[in-house]
Amino acid sequence: MNDHAPSRTTPDLLQRPLRMLIGEQWVEAASGEVLDVENPASGEVVAAAPRGAAADVDQAVQAARHSFDAGTWHRLSGVRRERIMLRLAELLEQHHQELVHLEVLDCGMPISLAGKAIERGVDGFRYYAGMCTKIYGVTSDISGPRADFHAYSRCEPAGVAALIIPWNSPLVAALNKLGPALAAGCSVILKPAEQTPLTALRLGELALEAGVPAGVVNIVTGLGNEAGAALSRHPDVDKLSFTGSTAVGKQLIRDSATNLKRLTLELGGKSPVFIFNDADMDKAIPRAANAIFANTGQICYAGSRLYIQKESFDRVVAGIADIARNMRIGDGFDPKTQMGPLISEQQQRRVLEYIDLGVAEGAELVEGGGRFGESGYFVSPTVFNTTGKTGRLTQEEIFGPVLAAMPFSGLEDLATLANDTDYGLGAGVFTRDVGNAHMAAKLIRTGNVWVNFYGGTDKSLPFGGYKQSGWGREGGQDGIDAFLEKKSVYIRL
Ligand code: ADP
Repeated sequence: MNDHAPSRTTPDLLQRPLRMLIGEQWVEAASGEVLDVENPASGEVVAAAPRGAAADVDQAVQAARHSFDAGTWHRLSGVRRERIMLRLAELLEQHHQELVHLEVLDCGMPISLAGKAIERGVDGFRYYAGMCTKIYGVTSDISGPRADFHAYSRCEPAGVAALIIPWNSPLVAALNKLGPALAAGCSVILKPAEQTPLTALRLGELALEAGVPAGVVNIVTGLGNEAGAALSRHPDVDKLSFTGSTAVGKQLIRDSATNLKRLTLELGGKSPVFIFNDADMDKAIPRAANAIFANTGQICYAGSRLYIQKESFDRVVAGIADIARNMRIGDGFDPKTQMGPLISEQQQRRVLEYIDLGVAEGAELVEGGGRFGESGYFVSPTVFNTTGKTGRLTQEEIFGPVLAAMPFSGLEDLATLANDTDYGLGAGVFTRDVGNAHMAAKLIRTGNVWVNFYGGTDKSLPFGGYKQSGWGREGGQDGIDAFLEKKSVYIRL
C-alpha cells in the first residue's frame, strides 16, 4: 500500500519550463506561446504549459506515424511490449507521491482520493500490459459450401491514435487510454486538458525512461479548440479516443468525418440513484451523498439525480443534507479535506448559475447553494428537493456538487424516471430485495449499474454509456478491441 502523502519538495517537473513530447524531443509550442496552469484551491498560477496548436499537432502526428510505419512498437513481441509497460507501471509506483502532488496541485482533488485513484489507474495499466500477449483472431471452417479454405482473422493495431482526456482525474484518464492503446500496438498522441497538463507530461518522461521507443508516445498540450481540434481533423490520425463533454463529443464526430476516424467517446451523464424503503439506510445515505459529492461532483457518472421511495424521502434528504453541512471543504493537500475546489473559475460560475436556475425553476434549496470561502473555486455541497419539478436542473449535466432529490413509488415507475434523460452512463440502486435489484438493473438503460454502493469501475468489465453518454466501451476486452482493426484472410487450398 502506498503512502498517499505528497512529496515534501516541489516536484522536479515544476522547477523547469514545461515542454511537449514530440518524437524524442521536448519542445516548446511552435508559436512560443504558453498557457497558465492554476492551482484551483487558490487560483494561483503554478506553471505554464506550451500552447500547442495545429503546427505542433502535425509534428506529433508525423512522429507517431513514423514510429508506427517503422513498426518500432507494434512489431516488438508481445512479451517485450508487456515488459516495457510493466516497467512503466513500476516507475509510476516509484513516483507515486510526486504524481499525487502534481495531481492535487493541478486539479484540486483531495489527496487521499488522488492517491487511491492513481493506484487503481496503475493497476488498470498493468491489466492491459498483460493483454499484449493475448491478442487473438479466430480460425474458421468457412460456412460456404464450396472448395477447401484455410481462413482466419487477425487483430492488428488501429494505427496512430489520438487520446484526448479531461481534467477531472487526469492521470487516471490518461492511463485508461494509454494502456489499451499501447497493448494494441498503436502509436499515440496524448492531449491532456488545458487546465491539467502536469501529470501527462510527467507520464511522458516516465514512458521514455521505461523504454517506450521514441515517437510511440507523443504529448501535446494546448486548448481544446486548437490542439484538440487539430487532432480530430488530422487526416493521418486513424483512431480517436475521447473523454469529455457530450457537446465536444458531437463536435469530434463532425471533425473526424474528414477521414472517418474510428471513435470511442466517453461522454456526460445525469445518473440516477434509487433508494428503496428496505435499503440499509446507514450505508445508502452516505453512499448516495458520496455519489454526488466525490471529487466535487466532477465525475462523468456522478449520481446527480436521487430518487427516494416516498416513505423514506424526508429521512434520506435530511441525512444527505446533514452530510453536506458537515463536509470538510478545502485545499486537497490537507489530509482532512473531504471535498476540494472545482477546476476553474469558469466551472465555478457555471455551477453557481445552475444553482440559481434550480431556484428559479421552483426547486426547494435544502442545503448549500453558494460559493464557499474567499479564494479558490469552491462551491458548497448543495441539495435540492425537486419534487414535482422537472427542468434543466434535473435534466442537464452540471459537473458539480449539486444534487436533485425527488420521490419514486417503486419498481413500477423506476424505469420511466431513470430513463427520462438523454444520457445513459451510470445508475445506482439501494435495496435488500434481490429481485428489485436485478429487475432495476435490467430496466435501467445505462452502461453501468451499481447495487448497494455507487461508482467505481473494474478493468475486467466494459465501461461506457448508452444514448448520448457515448460510443463504444473502455475496459476489458472491449477496451483493447477499440484500438484494434480486424482483418480476415482466406487461403484457397
Ligand atoms: P469539459 O466541458 O468537462 O471541460 P471538454 O469536453 O470541454 O470537457 O474537454 C475535454 C477535453 O476535450 C480537453 O482535453 C479539451 O481540451 C478537449 N476539447 C475541448 N474542445 C475540443 C474540440 N473542439 N476539439 C477537440 N478537443 C476538444
